[in-house]
Amino acid sequence: MSYNVDEKGYYGQFGGAFIPEMLYPNTDELRRQYIEIMEAPDFQEEFRQLLRDYVGRPTPLYFAKRLSDTFNTKIYLKREDLCHTGAHKVNNTIGQILLAKRLGKNRIIAETGAGQHGVATATVCALMGIECVVYMGEVDIARQAPNVARMKMLGATVKPATSGSRTLKDATNEAIRDWINNPVNTHYIIGSVVGPHPYPDMVARFQSVISEEVQQQLIEKEGTPNPDYVVACVGGGSNAAGLYYHYLDNPEVGIIAVEAAGKGIHTGESAATSALGKVGIIHGSKTLLMQTGDGQITEPYSISAGLDYPGVGPMHANLYTSGRGEFISITDKEAMEAGLLVSKLEGIIPAIETSHAFAIFDHRSFKPEDIVVFNLSGRGDKDLQTYIDYFKL
Ligand SMILES: *Cc1c(COP(=O)(O)O)cnc(C)c1O
Repeated sequence: MSYNVDEKGYYGQFGGAFIPEMLYPNTDELRRQYIEIMEAPDFQEEFRQLLRDYVGRPTPLYFAKRLSDTFNTKIYLKREDLCHTGAHKVNNTIGQILLAKRLGKNRIIAETGAGQHGVATATVCALMGIECVVYMGEVDIARQAPNVARMKMLGATVKPATSGSRTLKDATNEAIRDWINNPVNTHYIIGSVVGPHPYPDMVARFQSVISEEVQQQLIEKEGTPNPDYVVACVGGGSNAAGLYYHYLDNPEVGIIAVEAAGKGIHTGESAATSALGKVGIIHGSKTLLMQTGDGQITEPYSISAGLDYPGVGPMHANLYTSGRGEFISITDKEAMEAGLLVSKLEGIIPAIETSHAFAIFDHRSFKPEDIVVFNLSGRGDKDLQTYIDYFKL
């Protein structure tokens, strides 16, 4: 049995492509071509060259000595915060823009919530000189002004989604509508391991460079490619999928997924999808999502915008229900304090999303000889105002 995707686009019972018929030609074109395009030597060459020279890969695998001493185990940090644009998201947007070019597309659309994926998409569109339209909820546009300004500087058009709650879900609906109307010239860059097949698998493959590098780097540092645990925060699940990818079917490596419990799992203000979620369909994928008794999607809440998503990718839904992954929910308060601790102990200010992962030490312990690799998914610069307000700095 494998925890990776099967040929029909499923992870166990999760995944698939539950889409309106009018979208079928678009996703079918992708489904038929993505693996062949991605595995072609000229694609791999261009992808690897950009990851190296533009993104700054390989990112370091850093042994965090003071953090290790504090928690009495061996802690390594995979430094995705050092990627160009400050997080792992660009690994995926670089991959998808190269794929879009090979599909003959000359226009890119994307959805964004906090604006991080919008910025990563606008960045690669500028790099390639391709038109870029980013859909963003009106409420998010007001909340995330710096990222809106970044996208504009990078030449993207930011289109407000004005329906519903005017947040991520509504922006996604607008993007899908656009794609249906522009099936021939437009590629839709989804920002996480969510959406209809083949998106979860395609995005996981682009992000899998993370665990590919960890394997090589651990051989150098520890004489083995395998840590005892890999730990990552999960919003939609792309940075986690990248870190887990080459370890999914290796039972020697424990998988730990960290979700946002917001103000507490059962407070009604949470984004702990696995703990609270039921099987349903969101963004064209069958997965676990937070919903009311009659199937309405519940508004999620987390202090970190990147974890504020009511669903989780199908790979993670399967890791949870199969028991292959250990899922831990972390509150805003626990995450903020862990972020401050890592800053003071290691001189690295993590994104608040990432800070959730560092809060697991209050929930479980490790052996002194355990090798525990954390995905440091992003840097905290974007979150400085939230840290300032929270700690009254
Ligand atoms: C977007 C984001 C996340 C959450 O997205 P995933 O797809 O779950 O990885 C986590 N960390 C950072 C820094 C982000 O920008």
